Order: sequence, then C-alpha cells, then structure tokens
Amino acid sequence: MAEAPEIAAPEMTLEEIVALCKRRGFIFPSSEIYGGIGSTYDYGHYGVLLRNNIKNEWWRAMIGERDDIVAIDSAILQHPRVWEASGHLEGFTDPLVDCRTCKLRFRADKLEEAQCGRKPSKHPGEFAECDLTDAREFNLMFETHVGPVKDQGSTAYLRPETAQGIFINFKNVLQFARKKPPFGIAQIGKSFRNEITTGNFVFRTREFEQMEMEYFVPPDEAEQWHRYWMDERMRWYTELGIRPANLTLRPHGPEELSHYSSATSDIEYLFPMGWSELEGVANRGDFDLTQHARMSGEKLEYFDPDRGEAYIPHVIEPAAGVDRAMLSFIVDAYETEEIEGRKRTVLRLHPRLAPVKAAVLPLVSRDGMPERARELYADVRAQVPAEYDEGGSIGKRYRRQDEIGTPWGITVDGQTMEDGTVTLRDRDSLGQERVPADGLGERLAARLGEPWRTPKLG
Ligand code: ATP
Repeated sequence: MAEAPEIAAPEMTLEEIVALCKRRGFIFPSSEIYGGIGSTYDYGHYGVLLRNNIKNEWWRAMIGERDDIVAIDSAILQHPRVWEASGHLEGFTDPLVDCRTCKLRFRADKLEEAQCGRKPSKHPGEFAECDLTDAREFNLMFETHVGPVKDQGSTAYLRPETAQGIFINFKNVLQFARKKPPFGIAQIGKSFRNEITTGNFVFRTREFEQMEMEYFVPPDEAEQWHRYWMDERMRWYTELGIRPANLTLRPHGPEELSHYSSATSDIEYLFPMGWSELEGVANRGDFDLTQHARMSGEKLEYFDPDRGEAYIPHVIEPAAGVDRAMLSFIVDAYETEEIEGRKRTVLRLHPRLAPVKAAVLPLVSRDGMPERARELYADVRAQVPAEYDEGGSIGKRYRRQDEIGTPWGITVDGQTMEDGTVTLRDRDSLGQERVPADGLGERLAARLGEPWRTPKLG
C-alpha cells in the first residue's frame, strides 16, 4: 500500500470553512429552524452555482472533450432485484456497535475516528464506563415502499450508488448509442446511504451526489484502462486548481477491496481532518454485467465482429462525490491574509469554478455611476455570470466578492463617465488595471477558456 505523503500542518480548521460557507450562503445545516437533522445540508445560492460548475466541468471532461462516453440519468428507485444482483442487499453493510452506557452507535471499523459519548477526549471503548456490544452487520440502504400498500412485495430501496443504473442500461446504450468497447456511460445523481457515523461537514452525509462513469473495455485491456483513468482523474482535479501536494493515489489493500473489485485506488485529498477519500477508481471486472445477466436472463455482452465472438466487457469506474469535490475545492482555495492591516479571506477558486465571474460596482451611488454601472452590468452578464452591487463601501464590497471567489471586480468611477474606461481588479494579485468598458464581457469570457494556475503554487 502506498503511503500518504507526510501530513502538512492544515492551513485552516474545518470550522473556519463551515463558518465561511454559512456566512456567504454556500451551505446551510438542513431543517435548521427545527433544530436540524443530523448531517444533512442545504445548498444556498453560491453553493448551487459552485456545484453546477463542478458538475459542468465533469461533464466537459467526460463528454464535451471526447467521443467515447455517453450520458444517462437513471431512476433513483429501481427494481429491488437490482440490489440483489449487485450484492448490496447482502453485502452493503458496515459493522455496527452500540454502547449500552451512552446509547450511541459507532462503526466498529472506525472507532478511532469517533468520540466516546461520556468522555469525548477518548474513543469509544477506551473509557472505563464504555460498554460496547459485539459488532453486527448493518445494511446501509434506505428502505421505502412503493405504492399504497406497505407489505413485503412493495419494498424498494433508495439507490446507494448511481453505478447500477448504468449497468442495467448497458444493453440499451449498446444498441442506441452505437458504441463498442472501449466506451463509457456517465451519470450524475443523488445517492443515499444510511451511514452509521456521519460528520466532517459535507464529507460524509446520508444523502449526497455522485459523479460516476462506467467504462466498458475488452478484458485484456482492463489494467491499462484502470491506470489511464487514475491519471485522468488526478489531472482533472489539478487542472481545476487543486495543488498536487494535497492529492495522492492510494491503492486499496486486499482486506479493503469491495466485493466487486479486483483493484481500486482512492484519490485522497488532504482535508483539514487529514487524508481522506475524494474519489475511488475501481476495476470492477465483469462482476456487475455477469450478475445482472444471471439475475435478469438478458444477455449483457458485446459481440466483437473482428474476433467473431461475444464477450462480457470489464468495467473501470471512476466514482466521485460532488459534495466532497466541492469541499476540497473550497478548502484548497481558502486563504486568509492581511492587507494594509486588515484581514481578508479569499477563495482562490479556478475562474471556471467560481460561482460569480465578475462583480460590477459603481464607486459611489451618485453622479450617474449606478446608471452607467447597470448598463455595463447588462453587457457583462450577457457573457459571463455576474453580479451588481452598490451597497456599502467599495472595500466591503470587494471583501464580499473575495469570500465567494469572484475573480474580477469591475469598478465604474468618475473617469468612466469621461473616457469610458473602468478599473478591473484581480482577486488574487489585487492588481487594478484601467481598461475600456466596451467589449469587457467578451474579453472576460475569453479568459475563462485559458489555462489557469492557482497563485498558491507561486
Ligand atoms: P467511504 O469509504 O468514505 O465511505 P466509499 O469508498 O464507500 O467511501 P464509494 O462507494 O467509492 O465510497 O463512492 C464513491 C464516491 O462517492 C466517494 O469517493 C465519495 O466522493 C462519494 N461518497 C460516498 N459516500 C459518501 C457519503 N456518505 N457522503 C458524501 N459523499 C460520499
């Protein structure tokens, strides 16, 4: 097993990130007015925009820039036999222990990450009063009932992963998309797991969104494609600004492998709480197609006209989480610094990920500046997502945009009224240049297409 790089001192605490996300309307605890419901979050305006940008970048990498992958959007509720075939009904379990003293439940294999209910400085089982039961297997799938009658025959499950919705559509796609291996099917959607221990903000929740792609390949090419997708996925994160020193690829040891996998590597990120999984890249072999073929009676194979024979493709799966990706992009972009004796918090997000690309700000709310700024705002927002803000001092308005990661600030001032130029402020360098207002939106849109390197790399 590869060793994770040495842990560098975290640049911030998770609490600082949680506070920023709440303050700036990225993420709110869900059902807050009723006291909250554990580990469930609602995404506010900027959170939605950031997530959409992350998902768009994923779609761009999966289908916008290549011809061998197609999209799908399968149902959350699927036939219960899907989960029998996939092994989830029997095997998608975590070992659970109860403490008879504090009545809390813990994952038996993650006790070192949990806190004792009576003495939080200790792990469960370490305090004299702890009285843990033996571990028993707990299925993580959420059960529900379909139709008006709640009986055995109506049981259904909320999907715990999006992948199975892809496998059960293999035949449809093969037929209608006219693809042959190697080819992939990609999907983004919500998944649900009744996790025993949640926590670390949106890192582990019971409802989350996945970005999964199943890549079907000739069996003898599986290892090569597994390596290919590990590299591709690492590249995706670094091109979007994650610093390479904060990413590592960790192969699973034999005891860790899922029931379906012959090899898996986790892409791990150095979160404030330490190295943790961001994405898994698995070689699932022919497990899923074989199982679904057996259970459904359908042939799920590819007839190769060149070889004159049919075979069951093997599957390489990069499986990422939108919520964990979002958290890693925010953490990696977060910085506080002191500018002229004042603290500034800034999210140095890749401009393509930034929820808002440009803020149009009149220097003061008089002398025709708001009117001129509003005109310019209409031009700019036609090209890139933008915001108009005229409330409060200019310094305060810049700080607000820095905290949501807006890369460009456009200020309309007295000179604009004379010569049609504005100041363009750069979020990262704080440099201000005087540029013509005309055509500024188009020029910013063009800059969004350019390669970008995080200033944190120097
Ligand atoms: P973990 O070991 O952290 O529970 P996993 O190995 O079970 O994760 P996978 O089944 O490989 O996760 O799911 C693929 C991706 O989906 C993960 O890398 C993660 O980004 C995301 N994911 C899985 N479970 C959760 C969760 N409970 N909350 C948020 N994201 C999740």
